Amino acid sequence: MRITLFFVLICQMIMAQPTLIQTLGLDDSHLVKLEGNQLTPKTAAAFCAMQTAALQDGIDLQLVSAYRSFERQQYIWEDKYKRYTAEGLPPKDAIDRILQYSTIPGTSRHHWGTDIDITDSNAPNQKRVLVPEKCHNNGPCAPLRKWMEENANRFGFYLVYTNDASRTGFSYEPWHYSYLPEAKHYQKQYDSRTAFAYFKSIGIYGSAYIDVDFWERYFTQFVIGVNKALLKK
Ligand SMILES: [Zn+2]
Repeated sequence: MRITLFFVLICQMIMAQPTLIQTLGLDDSHLVKLEGNQLTPKTAAAFCAMQTAALQDGIDLQLVSAYRSFERQQYIWEDKYKRYTAEGLPPKDAIDRILQYSTIPGTSRHHWGTDIDITDSNAPNQKRVLVPEKCHNNGPCAPLRKWMEENANRFGFYLVYTNDASRTGFSYEPWHYSYLPEAKHYQKQYDSRTAFAYFKSIGIYGSAYIDVDFWERYFTQFVIGVNKALLKK
């Protein structure tokens, strides 16, 4: 009996760990649907609790984006790469410009189902609200930003790309939050070398200009260039 229970617990522990392909956005079978988006079940439950609390304070919290597959990130990457190089940017400059806001496919936290981009449906003028300036002063999403800064942590959500001059990597994104209790497992399981090997294996636009040295610098500056609270074990 004891051995059976021990075996079940071990199995549960193993099953609770994300797989390598789940960290790369190559598997969504573990996710649930919410408002047309996909999230891990625990992230979805925590988001719903936070959404209910926000509504009581007049903030209509809505998902703009959650899980994004490798394939979708590849489309975003290649679309920008083709546009920027068509405008005359040399390939390496085009890559630097993409990296202001978009990740290399296989390295997005959106691959995990633990990270969300949000907006406030009560904010006026909903078009293109994912702009930092619109979340400050009298901007339409300023009340949302303030509410999230004061309340998100108690629901397990943490801002990823903080407005912190000492942070490297992606620009400040006041709309992107991560559900730490789950995201920490993906962060731990993430293997940069595997991600690089997979990325190089499929011949994505611009990948010829990304070698292992570039990748390692990118990993240090961008992939772990996040809110330090998310890197705690
Ligand atoms: Zn995001």
